[in-house]
Amino acid sequence: MTSDCLFCRIIAGELPSSQVYADDSVVGIRDIAPQAPTHILLLSRKHIASLGHVEVGELDILGKIAGVAAKLAAQDGIADAGYRLVLNVGRHGGQTVDHLHVHLLGGRQMAWPPG
Ligand code: AMP
Ligand code: ZN
Repeated sequence: MTSDCLFCRIIAGELPSSQVYADDSVVGIRDIAPQAPTHILLLSRKHIASLGHVEVGELDILGKIAGVAAKLAAQDGIADAGYRLVLNVGRHGGQTVDHLHVHLLGGRQMAWPPG
């Protein structure tokens, strides 16, 4: 827990969120500014600043997040039509919150290339 981190404070329950999933390593919340009908953020429960800060011994978290995303996509009814996972890293990647998270987006046609 890092007291000045938005997602740590949400995970700790200090700030409100629309939580859709929680286990010992991953927390799922609905994005406050959804970019698609389904827009869920999968957060690592542990504070990790970005993908680049995941240590070798912690790599399991990425598979765990991907598995939870697939499960929540099915739960939201978007699995058959398809969906997108996005992991923004750093400034050029568009990361605005320095706490590891993956976006699950679906419920509409996604464009390629991304902006
Ligand atoms: P990123 O730009 O990849 O770092 O994603 C950060 C995401 O967090 C953005 O999509 C924001 O809309 C979202 N966000 C910011 N504040 C909150 C909040 N309080 N609750 C839920 N999502 C948030
Ligand atoms: Zn954090």
